[in-house]
Amino acid sequence: DRLISPTISGEEESIDRAMRPQLLADYTGQKNVVSQMQIAIEAAKNRQDALDHVLIFGPPGLGKTTLARIIANEMSVNIKTTSGPVLEKAGDLAALLTNLEPNDVLFIDEIHRLSSVVEEVLYPAMEDYELDIMIGEGPAARSIKLELPPFTLIGATTRAGALTSPLRDRFGIVQRLEFYSVDELQLIVKRSAHHLGMQLDEEGALEIARRARGTPRIANRLLRRVRDYAEVKADGTATQGVASDALDMLDVDHKGFDYMDRKLLEAIIDKFDGGPVGLDNLAAAIGEEKDTIEDVIEPFLIQQGFIQRTPRGRIATQRTYLHFGLTGKHES
Ligand code: ADP
Repeated sequence: DRLISPTISGEEESIDRAMRPQLLADYTGQKNVVSQMQIAIEAAKNRQDALDHVLIFGPPGLGKTTLARIIANEMSVNIKTTSGPVLEKAGDLAALLTNLEPNDVLFIDEIHRLSSVVEEVLYPAMEDYELDIMIGEGPAARSIKLELPPFTLIGATTRAGALTSPLRDRFGIVQRLEFYSVDELQLIVKRSAHHLGMQLDEEGALEIARRARGTPRIANRLLRRVRDYAEVKADGTATQGVASDALDMLDVDHKGFDYMDRKLLEAIIDKFDGGPVGLDNLAAAIGEEKDTIEDVIEPFLIQQGFIQRTPRGRIATQRTYLHFGLTGKHES
């Protein structure tokens, strides 16, 4: 598995949970999102209403689930979590909705992967807190209407573009998470080190932050690998030297790129002459799923200016050539 994959691995979930901030005040970075949510939450609480439905989008590992949990916590309500692909039938969603208490949060991760039947049940539920479901089949089938308690739907997605517009339009609050700055990641890593009871100095934290691809989940994962290295190869304190040696050994370069990024960037340069190259061709050339390229590998490379997306396909930029020590056609 990729050390710098922003997606979560099974065993990591409990560690992730332990390091999750619980309050908006502890949610590092994302200043606009935090200040907007603060106001919306306070207003809803004062009115004793359910908070408007919230859509959160952004690449994996940036804190969508964390934010959803914080919102429920700040509203002092329960949160039920599920995900788009898990909700196969309308009944699955109905079971969740009818078990909510007033003003509770229902969190649906990967909401762009909801089936259309489930999505249709969601519309009246979101709009009027009403459930329209069909019971039975054939001539005996009938539709029943159920009233639901007021609730807040929080949907998370890695791609805003993949949502149908009727669904998107039903969210009163839409928040986009951005990649974190190195300073913000340094703070996150220091806080996590404290949780882990680990010795990490400022420069050590900075070194990890620099290589964490703007992503808290990756920062926390690198931190744990650095801790192992510091305990085994040094005196337990993660200094800059220790962090740097550990991450070099793990093949995460000073930009936070690993073999997968290099494979992708080198393919664009070597196999497609710097681009433009379409997603299909690129996926075939490196043997990766298109979705993985689009959702997981590419966003950070684009944000850092190593790939440009043009209508004709992806192109490598001058930065890419410089990073690989090449001179190339996009140099001018
Ligand atoms: P997503 O749902 O977007 O994939 P998560 O919410 O699961 O991401 O976040 C991954 C991990 O990163 C969490 O366990 C948490 O420890 C950390 N994290 C995310 N956002 C923040 C933040 N703003 N401040 C501190 N830690 C964060």
